[in-house]
Amino acid sequence: MRTIIEPFRIKMTEPLKITSQSDRVAALEAAHHNVFLLDAEDCCIDLLTDSGTGAMSTEQWAAMMLGDESYAGSRSWKSFEASVSGITGMKHIFPTHQGRAAEGILAACVLKPGDIVPNNSHFDTTRANIEYCGAVALNLPCAEAFDTQAEAPFKGNMDISKLRACIAEHGAEKIPFAMMTVTNNTGGGQPVSMANLREVKAVLAEHGIPFVIDACRFAENAYFVREREAGYADRPLMEIAQEMFSLADGATMSCKKDGLANIGGFLVCNDDEWAERFRNLLILREGFPTYGGLAGRDLEAIAVGLREALDYDYQVYRHATVEYMVERLTAMGVPMVRPAGGHAVFLDVRQMLPEMDPLLYPGIGVVNALYLAGGVRAVELGTVMFGHFDADGVEQPSPLELVRLAFPRRVYTQSHFDYLVEVIEQVWKERGTIPGHRITQQPKMLRHFTCHFEPI
Ligand SMILES: *Cc1c(COP(=O)(O)O)cnc(C)c1O
Repeated sequence: MRTIIEPFRIKMTEPLKITSQSDRVAALEAAHHNVFLLDAEDCCIDLLTDSGTGAMSTEQWAAMMLGDESYAGSRSWKSFEASVSGITGMKHIFPTHQGRAAEGILAACVLKPGDIVPNNSHFDTTRANIEYCGAVALNLPCAEAFDTQAEAPFKGNMDISKLRACIAEHGAEKIPFAMMTVTNNTGGGQPVSMANLREVKAVLAEHGIPFVIDACRFAENAYFVREREAGYADRPLMEIAQEMFSLADGATMSCKKDGLANIGGFLVCNDDEWAERFRNLLILREGFPTYGGLAGRDLEAIAVGLREALDYDYQVYRHATVEYMVERLTAMGVPMVRPAGGHAVFLDVRQMLPEMDPLLYPGIGVVNALYLAGGVRAVELGTVMFGHFDADGVEQPSPLELVRLAFPRRVYTQSHFDYLVEVIEQVWKERGTIPGHRITQQPKMLRHFTCHFEPI
């Protein structure tokens, strides 16, 4: 059959509130024109993030009922440890309540002011955790990553020559570890090839620099490797994932992504000395090392979810959704990051609104227009999230101006996506009416979450 169906059926439903245009105008006004400040109830199709928003399977719910809530050495910890070590092969496994907690512990234990951490592209919380320690978070994406229209298969790759240059310039002693984000979220959910991971590993190994994978979407990346990289076509996703992790010395993970759970994360490594430091800070910040800030039932849900994410039919369906969206939107001429990423559609706002000054935050204009048109909540990945202030305090725009529509795992059906196409079509047709915005109030860090806007 040509039609790819959802490889599940629905046993429990959750109502969606259908709102009117005037409801949405009022809700956005009350949220200071920042969709992060909306009530979720007021969002009909919530594509703010794919983080922790997925639907769990019957297997996961059944496992949750077996949750062992013992403080230390619980049976649920054993399930979690077996699942994580089966995939990552790492010696030391630490559960955390989220990915950022794993990043925070890694950064605090290993970095000092002035250190440098290269990555293909740092996720926002990874960058914030590194900078909080006084270190520098350096992005070294490959050249194709900046061309949103290039149809390259692995646009999430790192630029190896830039990595070499970075090590030559700063010296290995300034680089306590390097990272690779798979898939590369900031760069449009684009995958990283096994060949690139291998090359990064080789360069780092030459200089004795540890290699840490930001593994949030490791299963989606494994699927792309199988589909696009020579030599992987018949390999089970589990084996591909194991091969990816075998190249690393450690990993941070948000189980809210490819853990198919609503909360959780982990930090893993092979080095005994790192593990000793991680364990001590984990106890202080998260909890005893066999639960690390999670309930026993959460550990159980994650143990099952990590394996389900590596199910081939699940990945086929998930990627079919993204590809369907990209195909429909391309036919309408909507500019997007090409090719389709793993977990989201990324609208290319710089091409949608070429006339608008990036410091008028065109991405916020598009996000708000999507909400007003159909109650769709998306997120800006542009100057509000990634712009910065130079030494003279002048605001510098982000190199890419994107709006991300992230797809929660196993949540929305085909008709929801058809509705979404209609909403985007309307915004695209009426793009000439999208206003610029100014910020009326902002915090020092991670401003996109809480700042207030005003349309101009
Ligand atoms: C979500 C995410 C994180 C942070 O994880 P949280 O669970 O949200 O703290 C880090 N890196 C990447 C690539 C992510 O997608």
